[in-house]
Amino acid sequence: MEELRRQLCEYGRRAADLGLVIGTSGNLSARDGDLVAVTPSGVPLDRLRPEDCPVLDLEGFIVEGDLAPSSETPTHLAVYAATGAQAVVHTHSVFATVVASTMTELPPIHYNSLLLGGAVRVAAYATYGTPELAAAVREALTGKQAALMANHGGITIGTSLEKAFEATRLLEWLCEVYVRALGVGTPAVLTEAQLADVITRAFTPPEHPRRPPFA
Ligand SMILES: [Zn+2]
Repeated sequence: MEELRRQLCEYGRRAADLGLVIGTSGNLSARDGDLVAVTPSGVPLDRLRPEDCPVLDLEGFIVEGDLAPSSETPTHLAVYAATGAQAVVHTHSVFATVVASTMTELPPIHYNSLLLGGAVRVAAYATYGTPELAAAVREALTGKQAALMANHGGITIGTSLEKAFEATRLLEWLCEVYVRALGVGTPAVLTEAQLADVITRAFTPPEHPRRPPFA
């Protein structure tokens, strides 16, 4: 788990540097087998040390570490129980929180939404850290790489911390584009057919044969 705890510090710092989290308002975790390393409660994410990050089993019992795990740990564990995720990133980033406080889903107006599974659902509001919030998030993530949490923030998953972190950056970008588009006019939402065409295109990239050398 040493490497995963080190990665939590690295991506915690990057999240803070990019303004995705302010102080302690976000948490990250990564899984290896039956163990999960998670950021601790009450430590700013840009000041984490690997040894600050508790290691838990999948039932939430602390296996290693002196600090209390993030208060949102029940949500992280619920996500691991329900998905094949190897990492979870949760932030209160500005545009994700704006969308999560005003809408019931983020519609796909850009084809990069497909990287998160298309439209992003907003999980029903529940008090932070509760099993109710964990259940709502688990449900909203069904078939997706991202979900928003009503009046709270965003959450993403991935097969590695790097992928979950990039999904968080993409979620924030998509939310920002949507919010800014709303300020200009009525954003056009991509149709199912248009999204299907993007998937087809992604699986059939153009060929760029190399010109044979002149004899
Ligand atoms: Zn939170």
